[in-house]
Amino acid sequence: MSDVRIKRNVERLLNDLPAGVQLVAAAKTRKSDEIQQAVDAGVMIIGENYVQEAVAAINAVNGKVKWHFIGHLQKNKIKKAVEIFDLIETVDSIELAREINTRCSEIGKIMPVLIEINSARELRKYGVFPERVTELIRQIALLTNIKVRGLMTMGPVSCDPEEARPYFAETKKIFDEVKSKGVSDVEMKYLSMGMTDSYRVAIEEGANIVRIGTKIFGER
Ligand SMILES: *Cc1c(COP(=O)(O)O)cnc(C)c1O
Repeated sequence: MSDVRIKRNVERLLNDLPAGVQLVAAAKTRKSDEIQQAVDAGVMIIGENYVQEAVAAINAVNGKVKWHFIGHLQKNKIKKAVEIFDLIETVDSIELAREINTRCSEIGKIMPVLIEINSARELRKYGVFPERVTELIRQIALLTNIKVRGLMTMGPVSCDPEEARPYFAETKKIFDEVKSKGVSDVEMKYLSMGMTDSYRVAIEEGANIVRIGTKIFGER
């Protein structure tokens, strides 16, 4: 997509988002110069689904940006991922958390993470089921080099954002419940929900991070 369109899209989005809602530009499959245009237009967080793509983009993009991992993290990519990302949004098992913790302790880093919830309880989808979230968070809270900072959910695969609303609402409810329990070392600060089609509904239901690709960069 042309430079001016990306710039205009970012400016419109930033104007549209209420104060306190952070924009993550979901950059999978985009070229480094497209990502650079988004950053130049005011994007402050880039979301990457693949570690290899992220390495290339981080080397190429200039500016003060943070990098969020928003894909499914494979075991053999964790070592690299903890070196390059500022936050991992997709932790959904104690095994993954332990491996992140080990790799972080090797390099003296403390990684903020979000717990990915499979709010629509879809089979073959990543994320922990709602009823298992609290237990997972309690286990992760015991690890010294990883800090839970909130929740992330994808919602169901559907074109109609209204179909996602109950799942966003349920994720917000879990967010508030965990918060009210006050698990030590856990800070429920970020709620990452909503994409191009669903971000307005997600914000209405309490999201304070939205992950948007198509509306910034065009169709993939
Ligand atoms: C691709 C992606 C997005 C953005 O999707 P769009 O519909 O292009 O806005 C958000 N979150 C995750 C995890 C993604 O993989």
